[in-house]
Amino acid sequence: MKPGPFDYYRPRTVDEAVDLLAATEGAKVLAGGQSLVPVMSMRLASPAALVDINHIAGLADIEVGETGVRIGALTRHSALEHDPAAYAANPLLRRTLAHVAHPTIRNRGTTLGSLVHADPAAEMPGVLRLLGGSVEVRSTAGVRTIEAADFFVGPLESALNDDELAVAATFPRPPDRTGSSWCELARRHGDYALVGVGALVTVDEGRAISTATVALISVGLTPVVVEVTAAVTGTTVERAAWPDAASLVADAIDPEADIHASAAYRGQLARVLSARALASAAAAAVGREAA
Ligand code: FAD
Repeated sequence: MKPGPFDYYRPRTVDEAVDLLAATEGAKVLAGGQSLVPVMSMRLASPAALVDINHIAGLADIEVGETGVRIGALTRHSALEHDPAAYAANPLLRRTLAHVAHPTIRNRGTTLGSLVHADPAAEMPGVLRLLGGSVEVRSTAGVRTIEAADFFVGPLESALNDDELAVAATFPRPPDRTGSSWCELARRHGDYALVGVGALVTVDEGRAISTATVALISVGLTPVVVEVTAAVTGTTVERAAWPDAASLVADAIDPEADIHASAAYRGQLARVLSARALASAAAAAVGREAA
């Protein structure tokens, strides 16, 4: 199928883009087009107009600072994946991006577009939630920052208003002595995950675990964050009862069945992948795994 008719705008500045969004009813932002164009081609969406932001300068920057990694609206998945400074500041970004679709799609698709698209099976919303990041949005009314906990409202629904352009997202730098990991299972490499789990484990100076948290995708309408510190706090990485921590995860989620997996299968997968992700993050926290 082909998309329905739409008007096409190519703004050169952010101001021009937000003016267009404010003035044009039914307009959608076009970033990498890797999600929007397929849904338009299948006629699952028929926006009246596209505001193509690909010709706005300055939106592709990746800034790595003390507080974290800040990306722009035109930072492609592949640019973030291969950025050495972003990797040094937060290896979880590269590790997770390697699971997002295929390299050709990552070359065009934007990480911020993936956040706004808010697919419950998408990896980077899970990472933003796990790290407690935020998204900066612009409209003709000004700028506002939306915390990750408030950003994902439902399946394919973010907290963005129709007249708002997301201009940047910040993935905070994890605390010192923190290890991270991402584990997922997909039917084929590059497919959306049946379940995906990101983990962060922080240890104290004596190498005892002080906090452990996971974020899961494909087990709810939005990414789900579960704090499992209670199951492992004070124990060493080597002695931690990760299956107990994974039980806390299984108790906290309520996955649904679909054509790909039953609810019970998803629950069991969440349990197994959580234990693996936590053990791997803990190993990274004490330097037993390559960062
Ligand atoms: P677009 O398609 O351009 O836009 C997506 C939506 O976000 C639209 O509604 C658009 O209006 C809105 N939007 C985009 N940018 C902004 C902005 N700055 N401000 C306001 N609104 C904005 N993703 C995964 O996470 N995991 C996968 O395994 C995966 N597999 C894929 C497999 C295939 C075959 C394909 C085609 C895609 C897959 N994707 C996957 C999706 C891919 O990651 C997309 O790149 C991403 O979801 C959307 O980014 P985009 O830049 O292409 O956004």
